[in-house]
Amino acid sequence: MKKKLLLDKVAIVTGGTRGIGRAIVLALCEEGAECAFTYVSNRSSAESLAEEIRRMGGRPLPVQLDVRDFEGAKTLVERVKQEFGRLDILVNNAGITKDKSLMMMSKEDWSDVIDTNLTGVFNTTRACIITFLKQKSGNIVTISSVSGIHPLPGQVNYAAAKAGVIGFTKSLAKEVAPYNIRVNAVAPGFVDTEMTSAFGEKTRGKFLNMIPLKRFGTADEVAKTVLFLLGDESQYITGQAIQLDGGLGI
Ligand code: NDP
Repeated sequence: MKKKLLLDKVAIVTGGTRGIGRAIVLALCEEGAECAFTYVSNRSSAESLAEEIRRMGGRPLPVQLDVRDFEGAKTLVERVKQEFGRLDILVNNAGITKDKSLMMMSKEDWSDVIDTNLTGVFNTTRACIITFLKQKSGNIVTISSVSGIHPLPGQVNYAAAKAGVIGFTKSLAKEVAPYNIRVNAVAPGFVDTEMTSAFGEKTRGKFLNMIPLKRFGTADEVAKTVLFLLGDESQYITGQAIQLDGGLGI
């Protein structure tokens, strides 16, 4: 039988209740990891995911945490270490969009997106890093976006946050490489989740035309790329932003 990729590893995934985060949590559990995952409001989805993991024979830990909460992120890490005895992996996935043209964008639209998508990554990574430095091992993957590299109009807040996440990833990768900690980002294009389900047929058609592979990606495809970055087969890769976009960013 094939050895599971993440046996005995303990992971935190932010925003695990639906979409890409949910697919990542399930993929990690299937590969043998113990998984804590966060949600902000969606308790029933968190509970149903936890139940699914229990049926797979896993021991899930759903935790309510707004990633904008710096102290809350520290408490999460302490709780995970108490529950599982260690921590090996952080997947920063939680994110939101509030797309609109700059002239219509309020200060709140700007701050909500920057605070969740960029400061949230700082908060959770800052909370984990001392554990990783002390044990001289750790693996961090952050979900950025192709919008952080090749942005579309009407999302200056999201593009700035996701580009910021890539800068954060590259700087931290250099800083912590001597401690055997790898830091990478995944930059998906359009992925079928609740985030993209609001597009009308016309908008979806316009975006499909821009994608050389002529389809949106799936959450499972993103999860597989995350697994690759977390596993030993990528052990010489750090500081990268892997584009997973059907060719959108070419
Ligand atoms: P969804 O909207 O489907 O899910 C978002 C998740 O993030 C939910 O679990 C939600 O929790 C959680 N979340 C939102 N705000 C916070 C917060 N303040 N604190 C903690 N958790 C929060 O998003 P996707 O699955 O589509 O996206 C996941 C990530 O991938 C995001 O970072 C997104 O920017 C990125 N991405 C998505 C793409 C796409 O096309 N879908 C493309 C490129 C990147 P709750 O359920 O409790 O609300």
